[in-house]
Amino acid sequence: MSRKLKYMIAFMMMVVLANAVSLAALAQTESDAIPIEEWEMLWEPAGSSWSVEDVRDSREWFAAGTGHPFPAMPEGITDGWVRIELPEMGAYRTPGLYFPTIYGHNFEVYLADNIIYETFWNSNVERHQFVLPLNGNAGEQQLYMRIEGVLDRIGFDQNPQLGEFQSLNQGYIGRNIPDMILAGGFFFVACIMLVCVLFLKREQRTIWLSLALVILSSGLFIVTHSRFVYAAYDQFATLLGTLFDLAMMTFTICLTLFVEQIIQGKFRRIVRIYRIIQSYYACVYFLAMLVNLISDGRMHDLYFFIAVTVMSVFLLVQMGILLTASITQAWRGNREAQLFSAGLAIFGALSIIDLVLFTVRDMNYELVLYKWGLAGFIMAMIVLLCMRLANDHSRLIRYSKELELFNNQLQHSEKMQIISELAASVAHEVRNPLQVTRGFLQLLRVNTTDKKKKYLDLALDELDRASEIITDFLTFAKPQLDQVTTLHLATEMKHIEGVLLPLTNLQGGELKSEIGDDLYIRGNSAKFKQALINIIKNSVEALTGKGQIRVFAEREMNDVIIVIRDNGEGMDEDTVAKLGQPYFSTKTKGTGLGLMVTFRIIEVMEGTINFSSKLGVGTEVIIRFPSTSYDPGDG
Ligand code: ADP
Ligand code: MG
Repeated sequence: MSRKLKYMIAFMMMVVLANAVSLAALAQTESDAIPIEEWEMLWEPAGSSWSVEDVRDSREWFAAGTGHPFPAMPEGITDGWVRIELPEMGAYRTPGLYFPTIYGHNFEVYLADNIIYETFWNSNVERHQFVLPLNGNAGEQQLYMRIEGVLDRIGFDQNPQLGEFQSLNQGYIGRNIPDMILAGGFFFVACIMLVCVLFLKREQRTIWLSLALVILSSGLFIVTHSRFVYAAYDQFATLLGTLFDLAMMTFTICLTLFVEQIIQGKFRRIVRIYRIIQSYYACVYFLAMLVNLISDGRMHDLYFFIAVTVMSVFLLVQMGILLTASITQAWRGNREAQLFSAGLAIFGALSIIDLVLFTVRDMNYELVLYKWGLAGFIMAMIVLLCMRLANDHSRLIRYSKELELFNNQLQHSEKMQIISELAASVAHEVRNPLQVTRGFLQLLRVNTTDKKKKYLDLALDELDRASEIITDFLTFAKPQLDQVTTLHLATEMKHIEGVLLPLTNLQGGELKSEIGDDLYIRGNSAKFKQALINIIKNSVEALTGKGQIRVFAEREMNDVIIVIRDNGEGMDEDTVAKLGQPYFSTKTKGTGLGLMVTFRIIEVMEGTINFSSKLGVGTEVIIRFPSTSYDPGDG
């Protein structure tokens, strides 16, 4: 994992933890309420609609509360009753009862035959929470509560708290506000992302949309899972319940879709297949939901089976697949999968802390941290998207640079093509008349006066120069090495030195060569010499004052490298970049063809050439050829 990624993950964990801990602390602030530890319960047979009168003297009441296990609901029962003996409450101005967790959805609360509280929260959500205001004279009376169950449990999971209504209510609201803040943040981010989706390219849209929906449904999930909202908006309970189910479904599908976008290989196919199955399930799910809504809850059992039982199986499978896929890919170095797994780890870690606290505090603990884990998870996914955008951008830049380079090369080779065609056609035709002219001039020279001889010599020199240029052109046009042999580098170099020594001496410089005796390469002797002479001649021409040229060669792995180093005038970067271009010359009498020909010969010999130079310091040329061993049968 890269260092940047690690820092990012550490930072995310810190943000999430800091928020989570501070808000969890805020949410858990205890009030000075007294817990009610004992109460009684009674099951109401299905179909009978009992009133307080009917249950008051029943013999079926059984004890519940601290020290008793959570009552198991008998077969066929859907509703139940709770009876609480309220203690003396003279100390309170306005007493209240706070129920941290009630299983069931519709409640009727009676005090001395009078109904004092009633809810109609027909929904799939079975855990609720509310504060019940009581009358000042409710002390030492019996409080009856009829509870309609949703699933297979009815009753209180945590002890109800008796206290001053005002402070109970404050605590209750304060505990629930962090959720609302978090959900609000999720909605905000999701909305921004949804708007952004409109401006994105098609390829980016899927992953953005899936993440936006994951965030949106997380927000919705938190809001609709909060018992607080049900208490506040009980008239929308059905809608909230439906939204909760929708959020759950959207979350799972979009999460799968998101993971599908970040992993590669065979896992991607598995995830895709899973997503398709999940989509079919979603259709069935929505259908069942619709039927249940239209039939006004009569199809509840079927819907419950599809929405809860089947869903939990799907959730388990999903967790398994996503975890395996993302961790395997992270292990193989997929950066996006690493980030995703880190997010998942934050989520997992906080959920575990939550569960531990829940167990340690004897279930008297509100699960809060996992929601912040969800926030961390979502943060990781957003960072992942940003990383993806940054990568796309740098890839684009790299491509365009490569394209530019390729374009330049293409232009260059086209230029070369034209020159070589021109050269081949013209050079050959010109060489013959030149040779003839040269011969006649030499003849004329024999019988002329000294003064005229000087002019003829000048003419001959110029003719030689022209012929040299033509040779260059011809070599360039036809660099194929007609006769390829094994070249003994030391011998070749001796010849080259022989040719160049007079010129070097004239320039007042010094040429030194150190070539090992065991270096051989394949090529055409004449062409190879021409290539090297062109390079060394340039070095000689670049010498100023007491100049030195050093040529040495050595074997490096399977290559022979030849280095030509001079301490001449050197070149700037621009000049180095232009080397080898036809007609590029900085000399008044230069042709700008020497290096062009050299490059061409080296290319045909499967070698490479590199120039490094510094203005005023000197130049170093490194040529690299594939090495070969001595072959006596070869010329
Ligand atoms: P020409 O020698 O006819 O100018 P070349 O193709 O041989 O053409 O060289 C092109 C140019 O490269 C030269 O004009 C010179 O400016 C530069 N050059 C090549 N080799 C050297 C060197 N060793 N030191 C300084 N400049 C060099
Ligand atoms: Mg030259």
